Amino acid sequence: MANVTLRNVRKTYTGGFEAIKGVNVDVADGQFCVLVGPSGCGKSTLLRMVAGLETVTGGEIDIGGRVVNQVEPADRDIAMVFQNYALYPHMSVFNNMAYGLRNRGMKEAEVKTRVDEAARVLELTPMLERKPRQLSGGQRQRVAMGRAIVRQPKVFLFDEPLSNLDAKLRIAMRVEIRKLQRRLNTTSIYVTHDQLEAMTLADILVVMNGGQVEQVGNPLAIYEKP
Ligand code: ADP
Ligand code: ADP
Repeated sequence: MANVTLRNVRKTYTGGFEAIKGVNVDVADGQFCVLVGPSGCGKSTLLRMVAGLETVTGGEIDIGGRVVNQVEPADRDIAMVFQNYALYPHMSVFNNMAYGLRNRGMKEAEVKTRVDEAARVLELTPMLERKPRQLSGGQRQRVAMGRAIVRQPKVFLFDEPLSNLDAKLRIAMRVEIRKLQRRLNTTSIYVTHDQLEAMTLADILVVMNGGQVEQVGNPLAIYEKP
């Protein structure tokens, strides 16, 4: 586990657009932090900076007590779950989950242990030999989560992982993610524009607007104000 601390983080894109204007956020060990706010407010930019997919132009990003501004994505001990699940269509569910681990040269026995464990947690065990096209949207999204889980990262980053699912499935998956979080207790940062999703999932809610943090706190305290 690890805390994530953003200290006066800024992002000015090439061309001069200031997308993030000095953001301070502290996510404690094992907490589920949700970044919420309207489209264009900078949620994705901030998350991508934590992931190392976007350079930081000011301030510091600290993961587990280490400033990672200059650290490569692969060395940050994070795993990201994306909106479009980007599964390999020709590979089985098992191989999709095993791919990154095998790439890193992990022994096959350990790969199998990790994939089997993730499949059990995600209730994908009966589907391990199927191809992605033989799965429902929700099952595919669970495989995408499985690929993150097998890495056993210190931090999970979620970029609107449910926004491509229909309403009913979105609600079901929200519950799944919450259960998973309670079980794994991994520090998480989750981006969404959906307030209800944010309220259901968050231990700590960060409301953003125009590249700045508008409010931070417990979701009930934020949304139950008169
Ligand atoms: P959100 O995730 O909240 O919808 P983004 O982080 O994607 O917001 O974008 C924040 C702002 O930064 C938007 O105004 C967007 O147009 C701008 N932006 C995003 N990516 C780039 C880029 N590569 N170059 C310039 N501006 C960008
Ligand atoms: P490996 O993980 O063995 O490096 P991959 O092909 O899975 O091989 O990943 C290629 C790159 O993308 C690596 O830098 C890896 O750290 C990164 N990566 C892969 N999957 C994820 C993920 N779910 N979240 C964050 N980074 C990832």
